[in-house]
Amino acid sequence: MSKIDKKDKISRPRGTRDILPDEMEKRRRYELIMREIAENYGYREIQTPVFENLELFTIKSGEDIIEEIYNFKDKHGRELALRPELTAPVLRAFVNECSVMPKPLRFYYIANCFRYERPQKGRYREFWQFGVELIGSGSHLADAEVILLAYNILRELKLDFELKIGHVGLLRHLLREIEEEKASKIMRLIDKKDEKGLKELVREPSIPAELEKNIYELIEAEGSRDVVDDVSKIIPDYDFSQINNLCDVLDALGVEYSLDFGIARGLDYYTGVVFEVYAKSGLGAQNQLCGGGSYRLAHLFGGQDIPSTGFALGFDRIAEICKISPEKRDTVVVINLGYEAETLKIAETIRNEINKRVITDVMGRNLKKQMSFANDVGADYVVIVGEREIKQNRFVVKDMRTGEQKLLSVEEIVSLLK
Ligand code: AMP
Repeated sequence: MSKIDKKDKISRPRGTRDILPDEMEKRRRYELIMREIAENYGYREIQTPVFENLELFTIKSGEDIIEEIYNFKDKHGRELALRPELTAPVLRAFVNECSVMPKPLRFYYIANCFRYERPQKGRYREFWQFGVELIGSGSHLADAEVILLAYNILRELKLDFELKIGHVGLLRHLLREIEEEKASKIMRLIDKKDEKGLKELVREPSIPAELEKNIYELIEAEGSRDVVDDVSKIIPDYDFSQINNLCDVLDALGVEYSLDFGIARGLDYYTGVVFEVYAKSGLGAQNQLCGGGSYRLAHLFGGQDIPSTGFALGFDRIAEICKISPEKRDTVVVINLGYEAETLKIAETIRNEINKRVITDVMGRNLKKQMSFANDVGADYVVIVGEREIKQNRFVVKDMRTGEQKLLSVEEIVSLLK
């Protein structure tokens, strides 16, 4: 290509990442841990489309949410959106495909999501979530199960985190006299911890001073279980049994948590217990690792009005701070000196019989260059297939960690590398 033809490099879209093999190996390891734990609790994987009808995401959260969504029209003029999260898609799939299946249903997913956000460390426009939905129960036991599941995953990943549990029902109860749109706005400002915006809104004359005081007292209520007593003084006509029963179960199981009635969650569909998990270090401002709670969505998508509960873990943030190393696989380089059939047969035997990663040269390089390549890829063993070796049916095997060399038959190589 001449100089004139040479194009500028094409960069990736803002807020996206290329995830290279070293990082992918780590991510796959973490993913496997998450999958195994979720499956141990009876959850089964579900996959939904990357794009959905835009309406799926606006139906409850309103048109405002479009600001944060990648939406577009297809060639037929249909209004579509890249999924910003998976709870709504999973509930839509439930209503469309599995509403007659025996309840409760337990689903998990690991999938990419898209949000039109201002990118920064730990906040991307394409990111991954690992999440679960437990559909069909509004019991405190359902809340306890999903909280325990998220807690155990984060413990298994050896993360240093803080679990905070709240209940949006209390805030909704306080705000019940206010028009719905304004109440939602207040919830969103509380969720975003936008103190200035909240102050301006609750100072409006339509909001009684007593209510303003109660809102502040409620969202500032946080700490150990005793705060339930304080909060019950602010809202004496509320039934606290769900939160009390949940705390009883979590306490009995030794789960460490604190209560925080300032958790509002951004999306409008949450109805009851909600929870958030924060990393104690390593992430800076974007340190929320997980968000979840109980909600009602199915009836909005044409199904029965049934309660569900779930959570989503921010997979990228977890991958950023988790220190567990990926499982190491031995790498064997079989040196190809031009005896192609013999080289490839030996490589195949090692791959098939003992499931090792085996690399052979495809560049027609000499021995020295292939040895240096073996070093570059961190080979544990090198097998040399040369003329002399083929004649005597025994091959040089070099242990790259010790430098030790042996002359072995293929069977002996297989048992050595096992
Ligand atoms: P949410 O659906 O907003 O409750 O998000 C659930 C989890 O996904 C959060 O706790 C974060 O860990 C993660 N998350 C949300 N938005 C982003 C983003 N833009 N980039 C990376 N992770 C995110």
